[in-house]
Amino acid sequence: MNPASRVKEITALLEKYNYEYYVLDNPSVSDAEYDALLNELIRLETTYPELKSPLSPTQRVGGQVVSSFKKVPHKRLMLSLANAFNEANLRDFDRKVREALHLEKVTYMAEMKIDGLAMSLDYVDGHLNYGATRGDGNVGEDVTSNIITIHSIPTQISVNKPFEVRGEVYMPKKSLNELNKEREKTGEPLLANARNAAAGSIRQLDSRIAAMRKLDAFWYYFVNASEFGFTKHREALDYIQSIGFKTNPERRLCYGIEDILRYVEEYTKKRADLAYDIDGIVLKVDDLTVYDRLGYTAKTPKWAIAYKFPPEEVPTLLEDIIFTVGRTGKITPNAVLSPVRVAGSIVQRATLHNEDFIMEKGLKIGDIVLLRKAGDVIPEVVRVLTDKRTGIEKPFVMIDNCPVCGQPLTKVDAMHFCLNPDCEARHIEGLIHFVSKDAMDIDGLGEKVIEIFFNEKFIRSVADIYRLMNFRQDIMEVEGFSDKSVDSIIDAVEKSKGNSLERLLFGLGIKEVGEKMAKTLAKYFGSIDALAACETDKLLAIPDVGPVVANSIHSYFRKPENIALIEDLKTLGLNTLYLGPKEVAGKTYFSGKTVVLTGVLEHYGRKEAEELLENLGAKVSGSVSKMTNIVIYGSDAGSKLTKAQTLGVQTMDEDEFLSHVQKTAE
Ligand code: NAD
Repeated sequence: MNPASRVKEITALLEKYNYEYYVLDNPSVSDAEYDALLNELIRLETTYPELKSPLSPTQRVGGQVVSSFKKVPHKRLMLSLANAFNEANLRDFDRKVREALHLEKVTYMAEMKIDGLAMSLDYVDGHLNYGATRGDGNVGEDVTSNIITIHSIPTQISVNKPFEVRGEVYMPKKSLNELNKEREKTGEPLLANARNAAAGSIRQLDSRIAAMRKLDAFWYYFVNASEFGFTKHREALDYIQSIGFKTNPERRLCYGIEDILRYVEEYTKKRADLAYDIDGIVLKVDDLTVYDRLGYTAKTPKWAIAYKFPPEEVPTLLEDIIFTVGRTGKITPNAVLSPVRVAGSIVQRATLHNEDFIMEKGLKIGDIVLLRKAGDVIPEVVRVLTDKRTGIEKPFVMIDNCPVCGQPLTKVDAMHFCLNPDCEARHIEGLIHFVSKDAMDIDGLGEKVIEIFFNEKFIRSVADIYRLMNFRQDIMEVEGFSDKSVDSIIDAVEKSKGNSLERLLFGLGIKEVGEKMAKTLAKYFGSIDALAACETDKLLAIPDVGPVVANSIHSYFRKPENIALIEDLKTLGLNTLYLGPKEVAGKTYFSGKTVVLTGVLEHYGRKEAEELLENLGAKVSGSVSKMTNIVIYGSDAGSKLTKAQTLGVQTMDEDEFLSHVQKTAE
């Protein structure tokens, strides 16, 4: 292909990838693949300068201003960083800096390159004025309402000069794993990495969603450092930390390139142990006074560079594709892979989601595929290495019948289902779900044990779990079970009888009823009988219940076998009532009011107080603004109380709060 056509081709691809990455937060190629294309384009443009357009992807910071958030022009351009991929690139960067400054050795600050979303926080007279994304570098999006759900971000600081810090908002690994587990349960696509997860959360128009995503942030750049008299980046970071901004503790001064290389090596190893994802290491010249002398390119400063870790994408053989049947009857194709180590653990299986996914990737059995871990946890097949094909690969054929019961499958959208209610695979999955942590939480009845008990015919339905003691003797005869282990299983089964209704509702596996919906229904109806008797129109009156959910619940409780099961469970002694805090009917002192909690309360934990207020009809918010109606404060209340007083918002101590709660209870 001639260079002009290749430039055109790469440009089109990069534009597509930019759109997917920055606008949809849903990339279709890996960062390494993207970077390789971008580098090819840079090389072509250097060799053939006449092919370089001012709108080339090499000239753009990347992002776009998209959603319905208010636009904020940045006071100073928010740039990206130049990349280094290996030691040679780092040495080159250091050489250029030394040459420009006529120095033998330069001091750099080495920092974690947090895999998140760049953010600017602007303060006026010590108050948070806005939090804004980078956008296209010139203009960002005002995402203040979402930013303030991150509790480590101060909304007030003790500075009354113009003040701006920049940093990275990120999703800790733990939050990302939990979120992905949740999405796996509900069948939503998993988030590919921490950056997309953070960006997707910050772009939510509903700040309650952002709040639930458990984000955090590190601040790595003090824009006004020189106006405050700082001449070193390290001092600027120490200062912003001293006034309440979270900075990253792994940062370290490096004297010269050898020190940098040691730091890079050290963190390449430590990376897996950090609580957040990093995709590289950022190096910044420590002396702020030379920044202007070193200068800028169109999209990056010349006083900093981002070293990017090599991608952990590992090739392996796709030995086979096998199918599993979920509790809803959903058929999932799974890759059987030659065992290989990826991001710290051995992988030999990866979900292939559905037929379309396999077709899009063009997978054949016998292919060499690239494997990675999304969010460093879930193994994912990235793509086929087609140049490794030998011709003996076998095309993939979607099955027509259930691999367990043999019944013909039904296709709904991209998914195939086995709709046979008697399919054994569905039963086993349903039982595993019923005893799982978030449902009835029966310790000792794990996946393996359920499978054994099912095959031994000790348990064929969820009600049988509560008749397990009848098989006590038989279980003891199965290899691996002792008196003690059987007793502890039976104890756990007994204990689960007292669970509040929402656990049972979730455990029953009613289509469309996830954990949250189960809680909503349990709270609203109070008992399984009330829910079972309910008609669709009443269900539709509940917030968050749409027609699909309402129909699914309604039809579940119209099936005689389900009603019989519930009666059976009741006879076996299971609680079928909601035992959690009740929503108070009618108007309360707090109905419709936005309430902020601050300080340490004596009688309630923070979560408890929040739940109580919500049950009393309040909306609990994390930050004080003119929209706040009441600030309830405990001991050690800080800036939120002061802010409320400044804004003239009603404040209330814990005693007063208690007396309102008691009045409601009377
Ligand atoms: P970048 O991620 O390469 O580096 C710059 C960013 O690093 C800064 O904007 C900041 O947000 C962040 N950062 C983290 N820690 C930092 C620290 N301590 N100090 C300073 N900055 C820090 O650049 P980018 O412009 O945000 O993104 C471009 C990259 O995104 C590409 O190189 C590519 O890897 C990826 N990308 C991927 C796709 C895809 O489809 N996979 C598409 C577009 C972009």
